[in-house]
Amino acid sequence: MCKVCQRRPEVAGDPFGRCESCAKAGRRVYQFRLRSVGSELQVAAGELSPRALNKAAGPALLAHSARPSVRPHLIGSSCELVMAGKRLETVRAAPALSSRLDQVLEALRAAARRTDPSW
Ligand SMILES: [Zn+2]
Repeated sequence: MCKVCQRRPEVAGDPFGRCESCAKAGRRVYQFRLRSVGSELQVAAGELSPRALNKAAGPALLAHSARPSVRPHLIGSSCELVMAGKRLETVRAAPALSSRLDQVLEALRAAARRTDPSW
C-alpha cells in the first residue's frame, strides 16, 4: 500500500513506497514521534532533523491552519507531514492524539523553529 495516500498499491522499486500517482506528484511523508512534556506535546524524534524540518516545512507549518487529520495507520504518539515538494498538504496524527490535534500542530511548529542538527 502506498505510504502517502494509503489507497493505491505501491510501485515496485519506488524508494519511498509510493503509488505511481504520488510518485509523479513528488509527494513524501515524514513521520515524527511526539512525547508529552507537562501538558504540552513535543517532538521527540523524526525522519527529518529539526534543521531539515525547518528548511522543508518551516514557513508552510506556520501558514498551515487546517487541523491535523486522524489516521489509523499511525500508531502510538506519531504524526506525519504529507509534503508535495515544498507544499505542505496535510498533517496526520495517530488516533491516540485525537483529543490533542491543536497541540500536535503546535509541537511541529515549535520543532521547526529549532535549528539543531539532531533531536
Ligand atoms: Zn499514493
